[in-house]
Amino acid sequence: MKEYKNFIDGEWVSAVSSDTFSNHNPADTREEVTSYAKGGRADAQSALAAAAAAFPGWRATTAPARGKILSAVANIIAGRKDELAETLCREEGKTKFEAGMEVGRTVDIFRFMAGLSYTIGGSVVPHDLPNNLLFTKREPLGVVALITPWNFPIALPAWKLAPALVSGNTVVHKPASMAPAMALEMAKAFDEAGLPKGVLNVVVGSGREVGDELATNAAVQALSFTGSHEIGHGIYQQLAPRMTRAQMEMGGKNPTIVLADADLDLAAKLVAMAGFGQTGQVCTATSRAIVDEKVAQEFTEKLVTEAQSRNVGNGMSDGVTMGPAVCASELDGNLDYIKIANDEGAECVWGGERLGEGDLEHGHFMSPAVIANVKNDMRIAQEEVFGPVVSVVKSGDFDEAIALANDIEYGLSASIITRDINKAMRYTDQIEAGVVKINQISTGLALQAPFGGVKHSSTNNFKEQGATAVDFYTRVKSVYLDYSAG
Ligand code: NAP
Repeated sequence: MKEYKNFIDGEWVSAVSSDTFSNHNPADTREEVTSYAKGGRADAQSALAAAAAAFPGWRATTAPARGKILSAVANIIAGRKDELAETLCREEGKTKFEAGMEVGRTVDIFRFMAGLSYTIGGSVVPHDLPNNLLFTKREPLGVVALITPWNFPIALPAWKLAPALVSGNTVVHKPASMAPAMALEMAKAFDEAGLPKGVLNVVVGSGREVGDELATNAAVQALSFTGSHEIGHGIYQQLAPRMTRAQMEMGGKNPTIVLADADLDLAAKLVAMAGFGQTGQVCTATSRAIVDEKVAQEFTEKLVTEAQSRNVGNGMSDGVTMGPAVCASELDGNLDYIKIANDEGAECVWGGERLGEGDLEHGHFMSPAVIANVKNDMRIAQEEVFGPVVSVVKSGDFDEAIALANDIEYGLSASIITRDINKAMRYTDQIEAGVVKINQISTGLALQAPFGGVKHSSTNNFKEQGATAVDFYTRVKSVYLDYSAG
């Protein structure tokens, strides 16, 4: 078992309360994987004080010098990739392949942001008068709070941390209680890379205490959150009275439209990858396949074949292609939705069952589910199910397919499978989503491209990832310089 303390002001410290808790392997709950100092409000407050004290020094460090530390962190993580992937796999339940991809992505994020450190500046604006210079400069905000979910416990914090730090902010990070190990491993890497004390602080503890303190403490100049809509919406309201800068990236209910001209084998493969990959625990997962009624039956049969080909098991074992749900309550929630769908008149035509035989006895396993005869107004089509469950919704013509895709409160990612480029481009124009994929899975993002949702999936203001990620973590100052005298 790995034991972790909180990282505050450059030190590894127990919780003020001395409380601890541990996490178990979701593939085999008999295995205690990690134990943690369970932080509370007092721990969050000392982390915020440390971050505030470290800000002047970090702000005065040049961006390229900050970038060099990110580069060093990338190298340290790359050197420990297999070990980190294994801990990630045991704590969160991903397969070895998925965990390795996520750690690799993290390395790339730090490298990308390290390179970007040479470009964070401002611009020269034409002045109305001769011998005058008008320019802008980007400045850090101060102490930034990050609150992150469990489903991508290293890459996702990295895509907030890297732009926050490279722009000169100091950070207090609260990772999800279900999988905090990777956040603390990243802090170790920063410590080893020579990050000055107090610049990054990681406090593990409940959302209700540590998270709430970050959402309400006046020391926080900006808060970036990723998680469910319910929690994100609540935090946004807590930040509003102080007009604290807020970035909330939340859930999705992502459609993949399959038109009648599509290669249905490819369509089924892509929908299955996007719906069952990472056990469906992805904000951009395809959960609604909106399929032309002429090919819906054939598509559904092919999707069932794909679902049947998933080898469900412990992600550490060779040949396993789908791991467990992260915890018992997530598994129960998924299974509840199968029942809700059947009760509403839809039909689970394959999977959706708890698996507990043999090696699966002690884990949170289920078979990937294909639900047919789904109407778009059913709960199964409207509410986020954070598991391997794909609903097939039949559509008439192309316009109806787009209307169905948009008839949802969320707007994160959306895909279309077709050979018709005209329809694909009309879809990109009309779909209400932050990301559109054509003949690709709805999951999987390029780290160099902006990412974020619309509608209830996001606060719709600042994008994450790509070069634009630094916008959230900086403010622009305009400087007027007159050199006409003399
Ligand atoms: P969650 O329950 O909303 O929790 C997210 C984070 O908020 C956790 O660190 C949690 O801490 C914390 N939190 C909980 N209650 C809080 C409170 N009252 N005040 C402050 N913080 C609080 O989400 P999750 O179950 O971890 O993650 C799954 C959700 O994330 C899904 O909805 C998924 O779609 C979404 N997601 C979105 C994106 C995106 O980029 N749009 C990416 C990944 C995931 P505890 O863990 O201690 O409760």
